[in-house]
Amino acid sequence: LPGDLRTDSIPRQVLHACYTRIAPSVEVDKPELVVSSESVAELLGLDKKEFERPDFPLIFSGASPLVGGLPYAQCYGGHQFGSWAGQLGDGRAITLGELVNFNGERWDLQLKGAGKTPYSRFADGLAVLRSSIREFLCSEAMNGLGIPTTRALCLVTTGKTVVRDMFYNGNSKAEPGAIVCRVAQSFLRFGSYQIHVNRVKEDVGIVRNLADYTIRHHFPHIDKMNKSDKLSSEADQEGSSLGNLSSNKYAAWSVEVAERTASLVARWQGVGFTHGVLNTDNMSVLGLTIDYGPFGFLDVFDPNYTPNTTDLPGRRYCFANQPDIGLWNVAQFATTLAAADLISKEEADYSMERYGVKFMDEYRSIMTQKLGLSKYNKELIGKLLNNLAVDKVDYTNFFRLLSNVKADPTIEEGSLLVPFKDVLLNIKDERREAWSSWIKVYISELISSGISDEARKTAMNSVNPKYILRNYLCQIAIDAAEQGDYGEVRQLFKVMEHPFDEQEGMEKYARLPPEWASRPGVCMLSCSS
Ligand code: AMP
Ligand code: MG
Ligand code: MG
Repeated sequence: LPGDLRTDSIPRQVLHACYTRIAPSVEVDKPELVVSSESVAELLGLDKKEFERPDFPLIFSGASPLVGGLPYAQCYGGHQFGSWAGQLGDGRAITLGELVNFNGERWDLQLKGAGKTPYSRFADGLAVLRSSIREFLCSEAMNGLGIPTTRALCLVTTGKTVVRDMFYNGNSKAEPGAIVCRVAQSFLRFGSYQIHVNRVKEDVGIVRNLADYTIRHHFPHIDKMNKSDKLSSEADQEGSSLGNLSSNKYAAWSVEVAERTASLVARWQGVGFTHGVLNTDNMSVLGLTIDYGPFGFLDVFDPNYTPNTTDLPGRRYCFANQPDIGLWNVAQFATTLAAADLISKEEADYSMERYGVKFMDEYRSIMTQKLGLSKYNKELIGKLLNNLAVDKVDYTNFFRLLSNVKADPTIEEGSLLVPFKDVLLNIKDERREAWSSWIKVYISELISSGISDEARKTAMNSVNPKYILRNYLCQIAIDAAEQGDYGEVRQLFKVMEHPFDEQEGMEKYARLPPEWASRPGVCMLSCSS
């Protein structure tokens, strides 16, 4: 590689450009492969035997160049916690290049933690093992849950240490360094467009170029449409949500980005996922879950759950706020397109409107499926969520057990709570009535749905996971990996690849969390690691 590609990482404002060519510069000492995903390899058309190559950890730590690669870091900004924060990244992610697979699909391979770039600001460009394990596992767990996400091909240690502050106890610690190879069709974020309207005036035109590029490569169905009439007529025919406003491709694109985001957030709410850092630089334009930092899945149902210690006491990104934040972020994106004169103010407003409609449609449908009902019942769902919150009931395990309820009108009062004995362990006597009455209404809804117990159970178990990547499970795997034992990371990964299946011998991964799971440092982490 040319020397300047390795060294040109002086922190600076990069104007008039979407990326900077820069090669990984991370130092390694006997890097090791911790875990790898065969399904991602398959996606790339990569033989899984490649994982065993002796030089694999060298290539995927960035120490040896990937033949044919063209490494670069993207330029993007973002709103952090509601305020414009200027240029942010890629501060520690370096894309090795784009791979075209057997289907002609393009996949970017990106190393997270591969050294400084011009966007690293004050930080070191590196990542530690514990965060990399969490990113790898959660990327693949989300995919197992059927939720759009960036993927993870592999995780390697660097063999070097990285110093990090432990925010929850104020100490610094040398930790093992590691690198995840993330894979996505694109890593473009809302902030990739925002940066060009928020800095120098002459860069506003870049938004159009980047939008054209994005639409051509990642939204070809929009690109194919003729700019005016054809688009509206197709939209009308398909009853699509583009409406009459979308006479230009950028408006159609803006609506699709809004709708994909709405659908993504609805799915997060369904499985109890809290992203933790929903800044606009962490919003994928493809509607993927991106940037696994201090995320967390709900253990007990707590609408205020905030996995990010940096987000206290405001709780801007708590579980229950995610739908509103998604809208706020979509508004920033649409406003950017309007500022670049690609869409009108009305078209921007229409994207936001579509976000709201799409979110509610998807959320209702997901919750209806989780309850195994044939039609949405707002009151029933509202009361259930309230009961879950009041009694601090485990979200995942409750829904998994719910499929055991029978549509049987003769069931005795005293037996109503039996299917839930494992999750309603500690409810107070005075709360039993609230649960019994909810279950009675639920049973009557089941009866009127006319679905057989067996068919319902199968359908419910395909949407209510048995296994979820709880923070404490990650922590156990991390503790072992930091001692050099990667077995638990690999095992947990295998379980989370198939979260809806009953897996023999894996009961311990579906248990209620231990008491220590709710300690800060386990259920809550800081942003930067
Ligand atoms: P995040 O809150 O994780 O999205 O991080 C915000 C930005 O900070 C990212 O876009 C990165 O560019 C940058 N960043 C985070 N950690 C590091 C690091 N260790 N070195 C360099 N840049 C970083
Ligand atoms: Mg980020
Ligand atoms: Mg991050």
